[in-house]
Amino acid sequence: MDTILSNSILYRSTQKYFDDKLKEFGIGYGQLVVLIILNENPNITMAEITKIGNFDKATISKSIQKLSKEGFVKFEAQENDRRSKKIILTQKAKTLISDIYSIRKDFTNIITKNMTIKEIEMMSILFDKMLQNLEEISVQEEFAENEFPEFYAWNKVSMIDYPGHAACTLYTGGCNMKCPFCHNKELVFLSEDTLSIPDDEIGSYLKKRIGLLDGICISGGEPLLHKNMVPFIREIKKLGYKVKLDHNGTRPKVLEYLLEQNLLDYVAMDIKNAKRKYGETVGIKDFDIKPIEESIAILMGSKIPYEFRTTVVNELHTVADIEKIAKWIAGANKYTIQSFVGRASVIAGEGVFTSPSKEFIDACRKAAEKHIKNVSVVYAN
Ligand code: SF4
Repeated sequence: MDTILSNSILYRSTQKYFDDKLKEFGIGYGQLVVLIILNENPNITMAEITKIGNFDKATISKSIQKLSKEGFVKFEAQENDRRSKKIILTQKAKTLISDIYSIRKDFTNIITKNMTIKEIEMMSILFDKMLQNLEEISVQEEFAENEFPEFYAWNKVSMIDYPGHAACTLYTGGCNMKCPFCHNKELVFLSEDTLSIPDDEIGSYLKKRIGLLDGICISGGEPLLHKNMVPFIREIKKLGYKVKLDHNGTRPKVLEYLLEQNLLDYVAMDIKNAKRKYGETVGIKDFDIKPIEESIAILMGSKIPYEFRTTVVNELHTVADIEKIAKWIAGANKYTIQSFVGRASVIAGEGVFTSPSKEFIDACRKAAEKHIKNVSVVYAN
């Protein structure tokens, strides 16, 4: 196939794919690239965007006007250069950005399906394979129910992730929260070159370990954002595994469905902070607390064992906050208070947040025990 023609077709197909996926947000492919550049290079000017993306000025100007009209960017004058303005992502754009990264990741997965890393480096082969995969998009979507959700990391044997069980832990990518203290930055903001673990590798491992492992822990990112999670859990339940889900409480309907279908054996749900401080703690200013409240009610009304847990960070939590959380979930089966541990992979950067002392965690436990009988703590060291 002619490379130029392939390139042209690939470009137009890419454009169409993203235009379709982004239609519901009032933007298209032209705005997608600008949003990603702004997210990865905050507060830059139109000239800098033009340079980074090698765009022509007229095109980029039109894209930014559209983003401004739809409320995704605003402008801020620069003190040292009155002629050019910084372009700032609004809260509306920040809320949308993880969806955008997921859509981009899905697209990369589609066009690089069946390719090895070596092949990906060979551009001439890559074009043909990308086109082949693009032609298969509709077929893939029809058979999507037969595929696993994408997992980007796994712990083949863990004795601690699923209490009382020898378990395999699988990590999904992407999250609809952006907790600044999260140490899974690579999983939350999936870069384009992050490769998922092949389905057959996971499938054959789990089949071989029947009788040796007794549980699967599904973690993330946020696992319940992913299509095919329900059929995947159904499949592993058929293999005889018990399933523990770690989640952030933002998908109560999926949680409820999984519980109704008896597909979960244990659920650990994060309670990030007292209600008033939720948005700040999850990195989304106007965060809607309702889904969290629904998930709490669903879990507390369920018959399976569950726990709520809070990662306590010096800069974000007070003892009074922990008591407010405990009051909110009063009577829960179990509440775990775990100390934040700093790492290089923290979203806000290393050193921004610090671990609470043992004394602080003990004070949190005492406050929580006023409302919940079963409180456990995990210290930083
Ligand atoms: S801590 Fe959990 S909920 Fe928060 S961003 Fe990280 S993966 Fe998402």
